[in-house]
Amino acid sequence: MKCEICQSVITEGDEKTHLGRILCEDCYMEARSPVKTCDPWAVHSAKTFENGGAVALTPVQSEILAVLKRTGGLEPAGLLGQLNTAISMSQLEREFAALRHMEKVRAEKRGERVFWRLW
Ligand SMILES: [Zn+2]
Repeated sequence: MKCEICQSVITEGDEKTHLGRILCEDCYMEARSPVKTCDPWAVHSAKTFENGGAVALTPVQSEILAVLKRTGGLEPAGLLGQLNTAISMSQLEREFAALRHMEKVRAEKRGERVFWRLW
């Protein structure tokens, strides 16, 4: 028999049923414990991982990368001023943290000042 979701062949006796559907072990586990939606970043990371590492950026993240690429690095306030998207500094810091997590950007100390630049 075959799993109704992923179509993989299930060994007789290993099949699971969930809401009337025959599922393989993996799909059954997934169906039983859907990814929590209260943590978008975890969901995003999990999806990214599943897709083989192809990172889907939000529009503002793409913009941040484009500006940093064009300028070779900026101080946070300078970067904020270059963005077409109107976001607050705390939002920008969150986006930066997400990008840093993906190893897309990093902070660099130049003298007394901290610049954000591409990884
Ligand atoms: Zn399956």
